[in-house]
Amino acid sequence: MSNSNPKTPNNLDRRRFLITGGLAAAAFALGGASTGLRASGESRRVPIPQFTVQPLEYPVDSLEPHIDATTMEIHHGRHYTGYVNRLNAALEQAQVRGPASLPKLLGDLQAIPETVRTAVRNNGGGAYNHEIFWRVLSPDGGGDPPGELARAIDRDFGSIAAFRSAFSAAAGGVFGSGWAWVCTDRDGSLFITSTPNQDSPVMHGAVERTGTPICGLDVWEHAYYLHYQNRRSDYIAAFWNLVDWGNIAQFYRDATAE
Ligand code: MN
Repeated sequence: MSNSNPKTPNNLDRRRFLITGGLAAAAFALGGASTGLRASGESRRVPIPQFTVQPLEYPVDSLEPHIDATTMEIHHGRHYTGYVNRLNAALEQAQVRGPASLPKLLGDLQAIPETVRTAVRNNGGGAYNHEIFWRVLSPDGGGDPPGELARAIDRDFGSIAAFRSAFSAAAGGVFGSGWAWVCTDRDGSLFITSTPNQDSPVMHGAVERTGTPICGLDVWEHAYYLHYQNRRSDYIAAFWNLVDWGNIAQFYRDATAE
């Protein structure tokens, strides 16, 4: 078919792509992360910035006896690493140059091309959720939350004991695979929620309640089955011996400073 007519679909498509690509590139150059999503044409494949695997800040055997070394090794080295790799593959496949931060990428899933949206939701959620999880665990964890965070917990849950009980119940109540979360609202109020699969509280419009997570507990069986088998409640009880209140307090300060 001849393409000499300037109004053929081919020419229109090309012009639209150039305009869209130019605007998106300009927005990115200005640091416009939330407006920077771009799906470029097949003929213009470019390298897409890759998300990286975040290393554990403690040895895999240091959480024993509460979480065993083999579970941590497989969980971090295979499950979590797999999410990061598959997220990168999906972004590369669709040539999506999204925001550099996972919560911003996941906060606007509608901007992701439909061909890879589910892959980005599942694997991007998996990447981000685990990056929180690794940091709310510590071999030196446990005890009670510090100062400002303790006061916020008292304010929003009545007491630390009531908060622990509500969070444990949320984690125990997840049917199948998912997560329990402590999040902050826009006004800094704390709330507890859960998500199925690898959904994350930052996924606006996709989850029951949106917020900024400051603590997450992975209740997929891969997180505990080797040691605890079906006894999820024992794993949840053990979590309180590992919880890194210092990092959670920092997440809370970061979330409420935004
Ligand atoms: Mn996991």
